[in-house]
Amino acid sequence: MKQVMSSRRAVVSGASIAGLSAAYWLARTGWDVTVIERAPAFRDGGQNVDVRGVARDVLTRMDLFDAVKAQNTTETGTVLVDASGAVRAELPSEGPDGPTAELEVLRGDLARTILDHLPGGVVFRYGEQIEDVDDGADDVTVTTSSGGSLRADLLVVAEGVRSATRDRIFGDAVERRELGITMVFGTIPRTASDDDRWRWYTTVGGRQIHLRPDNHGTTRAILSYARGEDLTGLDRADALTRLRERYADAGWEAERVLDGFAESDDVYLDRLTQIRMSTWHRGRVVLAGDAGWCVTPMGGGGASLALTSGYVLAAYLAVEPGDLPSALTRYQEWMRPLVDDVQKLPPGIEHFAYPQTRLGLAARELFDTVLTSKLLAPLTAKLTQVADTDRSLPDLPA
Ligand SMILES: Cc1cc2nc3c(=O)[nH]c(=O)nc-3n(C[C@H](O)[C@H](O)[C@H](O)COP(=O)(O)OP(=O)(O)OC[C@H]3O[C@@H](n4cnc5c(N)ncnc54)[C@H](O)[C@@H]3O)c2cc1C
Repeated sequence: MKQVMSSRRAVVSGASIAGLSAAYWLARTGWDVTVIERAPAFRDGGQNVDVRGVARDVLTRMDLFDAVKAQNTTETGTVLVDASGAVRAELPSEGPDGPTAELEVLRGDLARTILDHLPGGVVFRYGEQIEDVDDGADDVTVTTSSGGSLRADLLVVAEGVRSATRDRIFGDAVERRELGITMVFGTIPRTASDDDRWRWYTTVGGRQIHLRPDNHGTTRAILSYARGEDLTGLDRADALTRLRERYADAGWEAERVLDGFAESDDVYLDRLTQIRMSTWHRGRVVLAGDAGWCVTPMGGGGASLALTSGYVLAAYLAVEPGDLPSALTRYQEWMRPLVDDVQKLPPGIEHFAYPQTRLGLAARELFDTVLTSKLLAPLTAKLTQVADTDRSLPDLPA
């Protein structure tokens, strides 16, 4: 590989999928990389994410496709169930990008795999966060919560949807679109009634319950609801109490999931918010992953876009080593259509996906029957395609 940028330094803030992908590719293309992570240690947690579309090529270029595939959650398909658990419809799962993707993996397993394969020399500073950024013409200086400072040529902000550094630097340019949906993810004990499919239950009051197998001998559960109270500001005990009230008459496996969450140390709660921004870079600062464009599980593909962004960013920086603004613009132009594609949700989708009334639920069930018919299989397949493009990834200089 051509000797470019060997003296360039990057600070990456956030050590999840986007930050680790950026660290991986920047280090591979000759940058000195320091990763700052707010958590005191590497974060292993999280539920299902999937790697689809062009992100599969990124994994292949990392030589990690097989390593990630080997950690598949073991899920073989997706079914919609009624209150008794009987299957009322089955979503087609052929090909790599069905509702259950070929690369269906736990977030922590994906992140850990990248972490374990980082090129040598990447420095991690856990338990720290950025407190100030001085973005100058020649460099960017980052002051961290430990009181130290780091001088770099580039700051990659990959802090997820609620990124504080993004808000500090981009301020009013950050548009938040609240989808009015709360999702609570958690790991619960596996029981004999769990099988190898994603079981998906919808009931009145805008409530859903999901149970999915994993490769760790446990079951991954999600409770999600629309138009209800925002639990994100509450402490864990209060949030679980409110959740129990909301799901009191939901039926199916609600009680088991709530009991499981009460005992789980891996409960992750999110109020779905899209992040929309007209630009993802300013001076020497660039956004990657959810920090720049959170698409939420409603759009799907957040992990695929995060993974892809690290590669595309490093590739354009390698292609244009002497022109940072141009490289960042080209990064943005390449990523933009993929993001726009998943942020465009059909109008009223949340009302339809989360029916409040018996009538709404009946309409939804009718729709599910039509949607899952063999006749509409090609259309259904399109619904789960993300990070899908005819463009090939930019190549690294030979
Ligand atoms: C622990 C965890 C569990 C998750 N579980 C799920 C799940 O079950 N289902 C799902 O759909 N999505 C989940 N996600 C979100 C999912 O990983 C992302 O939507 C997607 O993969 C894009 O990743 P990202 O790297 O852009 O952002 P994230 O995965 O959100 O990662 C952001 C990282 O930045 C760190 N960070 C945040 N603020 C700062 C700061 N100020 N300074 C330094 N570091 C900071 C965070 O600790 C985190 O490690 C989870 C994320 C995390 C961190």
